[in-house]
Amino acid sequence: MKIFCVGRNYADHAKELGNDIPDEPVIFMKPKTALLQSHTPFYYPEFSNELHYEVELVLRISKNGKYIPERQAHKYYDAISIGVDFTARDIQSDLKKKGLPWEKAKSWDNSAVVADWVLLTPEMLQEPIHFSLKNNKAVVQVGDTNDMIFSFNQIVAHISKYFSLNIGDLVYTGTPAGVGECVVGDVLEGFFEAQKMFELEIK
Ligand code: MG
Repeated sequence: MKIFCVGRNYADHAKELGNDIPDEPVIFMKPKTALLQSHTPFYYPEFSNELHYEVELVLRISKNGKYIPERQAHKYYDAISIGVDFTARDIQSDLKKKGLPWEKAKSWDNSAVVADWVLLTPEMLQEPIHFSLKNNKAVVQVGDTNDMIFSFNQIVAHISKYFSLNIGDLVYTGTPAGVGECVVGDVLEGFFEAQKMFELEIK
């Protein structure tokens, strides 16, 4: 199982971190050891002093494929959920400054959280999807798929030019503006439309 992530897929988020709007999807990966198993506590990583949440819509790949055309891409994922792409922002800033890869900031054990799956219907994909994150009961991030720079289908097509997609792979589709720091004791809650999908305490 592979975990793909899209960076800078919402213009307001790219701006808040001082990045340019990309002209093609920014892709990075997390290994499967990054996935937090359900009912497992999440611990603040000891190597960071600036842990950030990034709430994202996550797609589940349901069909193997390579060189998937954009118009066929919707057939390659069957479920959606929300998750958190946890980021050690201090480490990422340092790596970015040095022009080095991001894995130590993004791909550590348990840095990828995903809630239960919602099966996708064609109707759901006709309408914008809304999602949000609360930290200690205050809304901190609000997302709307209308604001994505690259659509689900563009992302899947683009990834499949470089990497074979396999059943069970996950695609984190980018975070909207509002990323921020979390500390031990914070309680994050993720919402897909009005439905609460997860609650996670930073231990
Ligand atoms: Mg992200």
